[in-house]
Parts: sequence; structure tokens; C-alpha cells
Amino acid sequence: MDNKELIKKLITEHSLTLDEYEYLIDNRDPELARELAERAVSVRRGIYGNAVFTRGLIEISNICKNNCIYCGIRAGNGNCDRYRLTPEEIIECADEGYSLGFRTFVLQGGEDGYFTDAVICDIIKRLKAKHPDCAITLSLGERSFESYKRLYDAGADRYLLRHETADREHYEKLHPRDMSFDNRMECLRSLKRIGYQVGCGFMVGSPYQTSATLAKDLKFIEEFKPEMCGIGPFVPHKDTPFGNKPQGTVELTCFLLSVIRLIHPPVLLPSTTALGTIHPLGRELGIQAGANVVMPNLSPVSVRKKYELYDNKICTGEESAQCRGCLEQRMKSIGYELIIDRGDFKGKRIY
Ligand code: SAM
Repeated sequence: MDNKELIKKLITEHSLTLDEYEYLIDNRDPELARELAERAVSVRRGIYGNAVFTRGLIEISNICKNNCIYCGIRAGNGNCDRYRLTPEEIIECADEGYSLGFRTFVLQGGEDGYFTDAVICDIIKRLKAKHPDCAITLSLGERSFESYKRLYDAGADRYLLRHETADREHYEKLHPRDMSFDNRMECLRSLKRIGYQVGCGFMVGSPYQTSATLAKDLKFIEEFKPEMCGIGPFVPHKDTPFGNKPQGTVELTCFLLSVIRLIHPPVLLPSTTALGTIHPLGRELGIQAGANVVMPNLSPVSVRKKYELYDNKICTGEESAQCRGCLEQRMKSIGYELIIDRGDFKGKRIY
């Protein structure tokens, strides 16, 4: 098969074999990327129009028990200035976000033992009582089935847990021995079973990634059918063992955003801060490749610099209102509208 036939198959069947995904990645060129992006944008337009959804990101803690080798807030990074927001501070961030037009709040953080089920359930209930028209997304790492269920029953709507890579050997090169590929995948299955809208995802250009491991990521997305999928470039952090590894590229990230849109048309696909970090127009390019979500920062400015997953992260100095305004302008400049909406998944939910 050549590229033209593969595009046709992708559009009609939303599925390629592992070899075909690998071939597409290895044989990509600017013309193929352009064609895929055009198709991806047209498919997305058919479902979501020219709306770009926003999610207000609240980085609740950079304390983490894990030692993921790529991550700036890994437990082993002694140079990381640790912080944790109080429940009151988290609610204040959301209140401010609400007045700015956010209808989804993403509570993200390291795996910080302070945030027990009781503490998070209390925050969720208070947020839902104040803002019943908002969705709550959690991104707090791996927990037990029972814990995920309690948080869901308390009112959480969505959960983001990037699978990081669908290749076991690759996973083991990115994580220490006490972290398990099987557990990560099991967590994703549990979240779906419970009823969350679930997001998986991976870094583009992470160390030891190959077109064969990426083909497995695409196959996983094709089969798992997540409601959301977070992909962004790997960006090295100087205080991690991967500090000298090369960063991922805008080109490959955008190419994969287009492919993922065509694999799973209704998926909610963010154009990430990491993409905006490695290119001044990265988030615009992501949207033009088929993404439809942006996640401006609502964390208090006093802690933003401390949630440093990678070097030179953008948007660490501005107030929340500035961040939202800036993104609104950026989206307008490319013909898109940032809208006030929960931004729910518009596809058929598959459990
Ligand atoms: N602890 C939660 C978890 O593990 O899902 C959420 C926080 S974690 C820091 C969020 C995501 O940041 C990870 O899933 C990872 O893909 C991304 N990330 C971490 N280090 C990164 C880096 N150096 N470059 C780009 N993305 C990174």
C-alpha cells in the first residue's frame, strides 16, 4: 500500500494495521502531513464546528511519590521547590475560572498522599455545589478501582491518565522498576468501567520512542477509544536523568494529532502547553492539525513556576485572565472561537 491508499483506509475504516501505522510514520513528508491535517480539520469541523473548548488547569500539588525518569516533579528531584494548594485555594482558583468563562476544571497533580479520597471528595462536592454546570476532570495518577469509584460517586466527570507508551519495554525505560505498565493500563480500564470520560495519551519524542512504539500507541487509541487523548512533545527537564535528551518536534506532534483525529473522529484532543513551549505558535499549529481543546492555567501565579514538568514551560507569569485572553486571541487569529461550554465528548461512549 502507498500513502494515498493508507489515507483512504484511515478515513473509511478508522483503522490500520501496526505495520501500516509504522509505514505511515516512517514515510511521512510535508505533503502527506498537509493532506492529513486538511482531512482531520474537516472531520473535526463536522462534529465540533469551529469551537475550541477550554479547560481551566489547576495544578494542585507538585509533591509526588513517583520517580518517572522524564518528569521534573519526580520524587528524586531535590531541586524541585515543593508546594501543595489547600482545598480553599483550589476552590478560589475555580471560582475565578468560572467568572472567566471556564466550565471545566482539571485538577492535576503529582501523586501526593495528602490528597486522600476524603480530601478530594470534599473538594469535588464543594466545587459541584458552587458550580453545578461545570465538569470536573481529575488527573491525579494511579489509584485503586475503589478510590476512582469514590471520586466518581462524589461527582468527578472525567479522568486524564496518559498511558505514556503502549509498549511494555519502552514503558520500562521511562519508569523505575516500582512502576508497572500493567497497572497503568488496568487503571485506564477501571476508569472506563466506572463511567468516567477517560483520557489517555503520550509524549511525542520521548527517549527510546520509535515508529514501532508509536504504531502501538495508535493501535491502543484505536481500540481503547478514549474520550480524550493528551499528546504533546517530550521536553527535557535539566534536573532529570533525561536532561540531555532531545525534545520532541512540532512536526511529528502535529502529524500524530491529525492521525488520531482520523482514527477516532469525536475524540477531545488538546493542543498542549508543551507544544506552545517548543514553538511560539505551537498551540495554533496543533489546532490546525486537528486538535480542539486548550488548557489555560488557573493555578495561582505564586506556584506556577514550581509545577515545572519540563524546562522553559510557558504561561508561568501571567494571571489567569491574561492566559485566557491570550488564548482567545490566538484562536481568533486562526478562525476559531474559544467557547463557554463544558465541552463534553460528542461521540458514542464505548465501555
Ligand atoms: N501524576 C499524574 C499522572 O501521572 O498522570 C498527573 C501529573 S503528570 C506530571 C502529567 C503528565 O505530564 C504526564 O502524564 C506526562 O506525560 C507529562 N510530562 C511529564 N514530564 C514531561 C516532560 N518532561 N515533557 C513533556 N511532558 C511531560
